[in-house]
Amino acid sequence: MVKQKTRNIGIEAKPPEGVCEDLKCPWHGTLPVRKLVLKGVVESAKASKTVIVRWDYHNYMTKYERYERRNGRVAAYCPLCISAKKGDTVRIAECRPLSKTKKFVVIEVVK
Ligand SMILES: [Zn+2]
Repeated sequence: MVKQKTRNIGIEAKPPEGVCEDLKCPWHGTLPVRKLVLKGVVESAKASKTVIVRWDYHNYMTKYERYERRNGRVAAYCPLCISAKKGDTVRIAECRPLSKTKKFVVIEVVK
């Protein structure tokens, strides 16, 4: 198998092993990624080339001097060369709006 050449996306991440010819792929296509990079767990991978990523965090509440649990949840584009599954920890990067709800793209699966 010939290893496909990957672009430099400007973020320190491991390029995927798989191949694809997707223009919306940050590694093999022409999709530029932006500054914001998040890390989360794939909650759902039911739709094609789309994953729902969720991450939990704590927010300190000054009034009660305690932490409250919060979570973020976002839909992200997942090209075929990465194809993250449910339960995978992934890193997502902000990109241009790809559809009504997708403004993020999966850049790598964290082992
Ligand atoms: Zn690709």
